[in-house]
Amino acid sequence: MSLSVFAKRSFKQCRTNLGPTLLALSHKKVTLFACSPYYRNLEVSSIYKAQLSFTALFSKIFKNKSTNVGKIPKKPSFYLLSQSPIKAIVEKGKIISEHGVCPICDQLEAKNSINLSNQTDSSANPPSYRGKKPTFECPGCGYPTHCSEEHWKLDQHHKTDICSHLKTANIDEHDLRSGRKMPEFEFPASQAPELIVNLSNWDTYFYTRNFLTIKSNQAVRHVSKILTYPITIASIIHPYSPFAQKKAFTPEGIKSIGAIQTTLREHELAKSDQNLASLINPIRIFVLGARSEAMLPVAVYLQLYYLIPSSLITIYFVGPECIPSPDESRNTVAVSSRLVLKYHKGLFHDMLWSFAPFDPYTDIFFMFNPGVGHPLTKNAWKPTIEKLLETKCGIFATGFSDSDMSNDIDLLNNEFTNKFDWLLKPTPNPFSSLKRDFAINDLRVWAQSNMNIYGFRGKLYEVEKTQ
Ligand SMILES: [Zn+2]
Ligand SMILES: [Zn+2]
Repeated sequence: MSLSVFAKRSFKQCRTNLGPTLLALSHKKVTLFACSPYYRNLEVSSIYKAQLSFTALFSKIFKNKSTNVGKIPKKPSFYLLSQSPIKAIVEKGKIISEHGVCPICDQLEAKNSINLSNQTDSSANPPSYRGKKPTFECPGCGYPTHCSEEHWKLDQHHKTDICSHLKTANIDEHDLRSGRKMPEFEFPASQAPELIVNLSNWDTYFYTRNFLTIKSNQAVRHVSKILTYPITIASIIHPYSPFAQKKAFTPEGIKSIGAIQTTLREHELAKSDQNLASLINPIRIFVLGARSEAMLPVAVYLQLYYLIPSSLITIYFVGPECIPSPDESRNTVAVSSRLVLKYHKGLFHDMLWSFAPFDPYTDIFFMFNPGVGHPLTKNAWKPTIEKLLETKCGIFATGFSDSDMSNDIDLLNNEFTNKFDWLLKPTPNPFSSLKRDFAINDLRVWAQSNMNIYGFRGKLYEVEKTQ
């Protein structure tokens, strides 16, 4: 269908400005970057957490008058980190210089350790980095990437594969903290049901949902980082799911999603049928291992509801790092009469009975960048996966990089062999965050939230006749 079909819009847009909501969250010492999954094994993350709180990040977005030090650039700009007018970014550069690695020194060390290990015990753990600290700032990206100009010149991999992405990250971070008015965070409200949304990718979604204020790739990167969570959920359960359009769901996946969509259709019918309305149950979306996705302003999840506006939805955020309000009565937030968010701190398998029974027609699970196969987190995930498979409900998970997802898939294949069916084979997520986050202890490592996605469900055994 041609996009020009959607060009004419007669209804008046009533926009949600997330500024005040994000500012209201600023008292919570919550971090976006530290919540990034790959920080789970970084020792330095705690130092960095303090500097990249919501206070630090979003108060700058929505205040024209910044209280930060130095002169704030008016336009998106590029600086060497040490010369940034933003104090937190200067500090970030110092932390990278202190805890990071020079890739060339690292390669030389690796060569030496191979030679040494040939002479000594090869089963010994690899030694920690003992190369020089990366204090030389690359003029291309502004980050302290190498120990010296000499090593920087030798590093072709940095020039061809990393530098341009780090430069983008540099410019984006300065832009977010620039104090400029950020209209891209003003999201559209509901739209007329006859206007069909195209969920093929970010571009078609923004266009058909009338995100009029998104006018640059940079704005898309900023917004995709927070909308990746609700829109990834929508891309699975929506009647126009891109995975259904591309026939990516397996036959079992079609059955599982079909069950959820049956309930969504009932919700739609119930709008005009009082008797049915008294019988319907909400769709329960469980977001397990919830971290940053549970800390977003509730209005972000309205964008999911606007895509399926007849539905009744309750989203449960569950996880040890999910931070509910100290006031327990506020751990249930009714965003509207049809969308409720609930927050539970703890491990899902420990609080299973507070959510049981489960029903594949109403219940679906999401795990965003969970690290199911990560050495540090896999033991905590195993009992949860076991219980999830018993529910026979659909489970969808994402990975923040190819290797992250392949670790998760390996764990599922090795530990739960023959216990699950694929609903969606591992595939790129069209609604991944478009922003790359770099590991501060090694700038060669990066993550992109929800980059890939896959789905599975506990195996349904056929009833067999016995003789
Ligand atoms: Zn070096
Ligand atoms: Zn560079």
